Amino acid sequence: MKVIRTIRGLIAWRRGLSREGVRVGMVPTMGALHDGHRALIRTARLACDALIVSIFVNPRQFGPTEDFARYPRRLRADASLCRDEGADVVFAPSLTEMYPAGSQTTVSVRDIARRWEGAARPQHFDGVATVVTKLLNAARPDIALFGQKDYQQAVLIRRLVEDIDLAVDVRVCPTVRESDGLALSSRNEYLTPAQRRAAPILYKALQAGRAAIKLRERSGAVIQRRMRSVLVNEPLARIEYLAVCDPHTLEPLARVTNRAVLLGAIRLGRVRLIDNVLADR
Ligand code: AMP
Repeated sequence: MKVIRTIRGLIAWRRGLSREGVRVGMVPTMGALHDGHRALIRTARLACDALIVSIFVNPRQFGPTEDFARYPRRLRADASLCRDEGADVVFAPSLTEMYPAGSQTTVSVRDIARRWEGAARPQHFDGVATVVTKLLNAARPDIALFGQKDYQQAVLIRRLVEDIDLAVDVRVCPTVRESDGLALSSRNEYLTPAQRRAAPILYKALQAGRAAIKLRERSGAVIQRRMRSVLVNEPLARIEYLAVCDPHTLEPLARVTNRAVLLGAIRLGRVRLIDNVLADR
């Protein structure tokens, strides 16, 4: 497995593979790899011939008061996980490699970036869209894998790829969870023991919403209240949003007539957690 540090190096490696029939897969990450990332890497490994995992903590997707400085960084352990899972390349550029002095272009996806995470974290999705465009452009993968855990991000990336005609097949893999339901996240490391015990409440609330839909509840407002009624039982949790949305546009649904995605974000102290479930009626 190679560790490549420069965009030029990545482009050169990719050019070397341009023989016909080599399928290149890519899994973009910010490192601190856990079993959620591992599942993406394994799925990618089975679907391609040459696999790149990128590891880059992207400053542009963090707000000024967010956790960029303390976000966990452990390239050695991450690289060894990637090697164990059969990656061919770890792409781990420096900050100045990705954003050299003078860099001034931003990629924006308009409507999908407005709501939910976008409303709570201004600039976040511009940062995501910009870095993903740069990574896909340099690596030119045939397939790129993302997690359902970041549902809005996955929808935004599908839109981006279609809008700017990137020739990549975007695949979204199911959320990997702890045994108590908490979605795996690099940020779970920040939780105190008491917050960690409280954290599965978000998934429980989303499941209550899904159960209501299964029991033929159709009103978005009632489903939302059902989710809220679970979360208010947890004094440590502060609700940021709980929403019943169209799975493609992410607009809120007054009535669930087809599929819905239930999106949620809470705060436990300073730690922000997001999660989602898809619900069929
Ligand atoms: P991150 O390192 O947080 O930027 O995540 C890199 C990729 O892993 C993104 O596509 C995430 O959606 C995905 N991911 C993160 N956590 C999970 C999880 N628990 N299950 C599945 N995919 C995940």
